[in-house]
Amino acid sequence: MHSYTPEDDRTARALLAYCLARMANDQPLDRPLRPEELEALAGGSITAAGVGGTEALRLWTEVLGPACLSVDHRRYLSFIPNAPTKAATYFDMLVAASNVYGGSWLEGSGAVYAENQALRWLADLAGLPPESGGCFVQGGTIGNLSALVAAREAALHRRGGRRPDRWAVCVTAETHSSVKHALRVVMDVDVLEVDGDTRGRLCGAALRARVAALPGSVRDGIFAVVATAGTTNLGVVDDIAGIADVAAEQGWWLHVDGAYGGAGLAAPSVRRLFAGVERADSFIVDPHKWLFAPFDSCALIYRDPVQARAAHTQHAGYLDPVTVAGEWNPSDFALHLTRRARGLPFWFSLAVYGTDAYRAALEQTLTVARAGADLIRRAPHLDLLVEPDLTVLIFERTGWGAEDYAAWSARLLREQVAFVTPTRHRHRVCTRLAIVNPLTTVDDLALILDSMR
Ligand SMILES: *Cc1c(COP(=O)(O)O)cnc(C)c1O
Repeated sequence: MHSYTPEDDRTARALLAYCLARMANDQPLDRPLRPEELEALAGGSITAAGVGGTEALRLWTEVLGPACLSVDHRRYLSFIPNAPTKAATYFDMLVAASNVYGGSWLEGSGAVYAENQALRWLADLAGLPPESGGCFVQGGTIGNLSALVAAREAALHRRGGRRPDRWAVCVTAETHSSVKHALRVVMDVDVLEVDGDTRGRLCGAALRARVAALPGSVRDGIFAVVATAGTTNLGVVDDIAGIADVAAEQGWWLHVDGAYGGAGLAAPSVRRLFAGVERADSFIVDPHKWLFAPFDSCALIYRDPVQARAAHTQHAGYLDPVTVAGEWNPSDFALHLTRRARGLPFWFSLAVYGTDAYRAALEQTLTVARAGADLIRRAPHLDLLVEPDLTVLIFERTGWGAEDYAAWSARLLREQVAFVTPTRHRHRVCTRLAIVNPLTTVDDLALILDSMR
């Protein structure tokens, strides 16, 4: 198992050929199978003697792989899709083969240095100061949680260790479920929902009014506000500058969740929507969403990394050689220790293609989304529910109920046309298209919209 045999060489070459072919050719959407179907086709794969490389690889290429949806298909428009660049994809293979330990500078300095360059590009786009920095984590969920933990530690420190009755954080109805889950379930922090405007946007004025109306004892426990730069369901950017004003007045930490939309910082046509992000205490963006990196990768950046370090550095006798030197250890900035260097595919792709190519690819998706919004506005059978800021289009088919959407969505997947799922907005079932793939065309959207007639 640990020496490289001719059989390993055969399997590895076959595997590599499969990977290259997948990258070079359009993929089918594929479909989920039921457990019984998978059991019949791929059950019993783990045996005492082993089935061998050829057979195990066949199980993947013929059965298990096709039972996973191709998230990078250009008509996969559900949730937030993923459309990695070719260079990011093949570099991810190298990351696996190199087996870098990405948790500490001592063990992974070259990887951490490269990742930090990618973080720097993002921090500069956001207008964060030169000393800002952080690390790559698994996804927005861990990024948001890590930032909010740092925020609470900073508040506790500022208050001289005095805890309120209840800690609390201000959010809005459209704030991502991962933020609310982190606060309620993981951190045991109260979630104060502030009403959004007609597009669900959290605005400074509403936040100020809501907080002024709270009892002093509740207000005392608020330590942060979360602004969303691109809500997941609606693709709308909150009033970050207005929220930053309130955060400054109240002495709160401002966390900006740009897991999906933060990529728009690199797109000149929408950059103005992010005004105020330069005042964030922490900011996240997922390169695995709209920045063309493979799963999984979230960039987590702190205005003042010293505060994050104070919250996250783990202490143990055997870790001292790592933690005492003051070097840049990704493990000091989030809830993790061992870490895949998951920012490397993004770094490599940025280095290969250059940032202009990213700007062009982002603008391409925005152009297609705008054309898609026009198609919806003009279609008599469709209603655009929210004016889009970015590349999410949420709309209704007039006269349809939940079963109609479900049947239509299932048919599109069964016929391998597209993957589009229903969603809810203001308690009503509707649907949405999330466009992050530069290969998606206006014709692709037209095909899907026509299928709703
Ligand atoms: C996707 C998303 C998250 C969660 O990110 P994961 O990478 O899935 O953990 C958080 N916030 C927003 C706004 C998102 O769109």
